[in-house]
Amino acid sequence: MHLATLRGAALLVPWRQRAEWLSEWRSELWYVRQSRGTKGVTAFCLGAFKDALWLRRNTPCQEARKMSCLESPVKSLLFLALLAAVSLLLTIRVPHARVEGEPPVREQLILLNLHALLITFLVLPAITSLRLGEYPANSHSPPLATRLRRWFFLAIKIALIIQILFCTSASSKLIQPYVWVIYLLAFRWALIDQRQRCPVCLRLLTNPTRIGRPSQTFLEWYGIELMCAKGHGLLYVPEIPTSCYSTQRWLYLDPTWSSFFPSHELREHGSLALSMQSYATLTWRSCRSRGKYGLLPDQIHGHRCS
Ligand SMILES: [Zn+2]
Repeated sequence: MHLATLRGAALLVPWRQRAEWLSEWRSELWYVRQSRGTKGVTAFCLGAFKDALWLRRNTPCQEARKMSCLESPVKSLLFLALLAAVSLLLTIRVPHARVEGEPPVREQLILLNLHALLITFLVLPAITSLRLGEYPANSHSPPLATRLRRWFFLAIKIALIIQILFCTSASSKLIQPYVWVIYLLAFRWALIDQRQRCPVCLRLLTNPTRIGRPSQTFLEWYGIELMCAKGHGLLYVPEIPTSCYSTQRWLYLDPTWSSFFPSHELREHGSLALSMQSYATLTWRSCRSRGKYGLLPDQIHGHRCS
């Protein structure tokens, strides 16, 4: 029964670490039985669930990111454009949208969607942050035109989402009372997706790595570090906002770093990529105090940390 409890808790552990985690807990179970007998063994096994949950929460999910079909900005926009085309076709072609019952007039639809958008803008800050993070310019920043692309990308996404939901609400009366909920979820996705993209190539960032400790945030930071697969930079996402890191912050890397981040190695050899990421981070941190590579501390951390 105790072993079954451990096996049940092991299901919560990410599969990469499951075998090692289970063997470790089985060894400890053997030791507990030897030292205490049956006393307290059940409580010990139930503690495995807490440990498994902690491990799941603190292990960034790389597999999900790797498998994301919307990693490329082009694919992401094409997917939304496809949905927009389908919703437009439904509005035009589906007979009951215009024939059955009372067809929704254009003015009513516009008012309905404006009302839904107003509710969305009021409620959205409660379910996700509206801030897209800090992208401080340094000597390695791309040209302004390149940096503005992410705003165009966001604008196109939002425009397509509005078009999709406008047409969908026009073709189906069933979703009209709930269209504001769909707007809310869609806008939340758009913002989260935007925050997880490289500002240069607009691809989804990869290799999330947890850095630091929750109990040591004084003059340090605790959170997740992500990287662009093409070596454009690193993203620091604080788990616990501090005066230094109140929101996520992007660091533009020198173009010469790109050779250290070949995309195919990132996909096929995650550990190698993580090693290179750690190497880049450590090298950057060791060099920043000397101002090497033009990355001065005040350029990176801002004046609040200086
Ligand atoms: Zn990039």
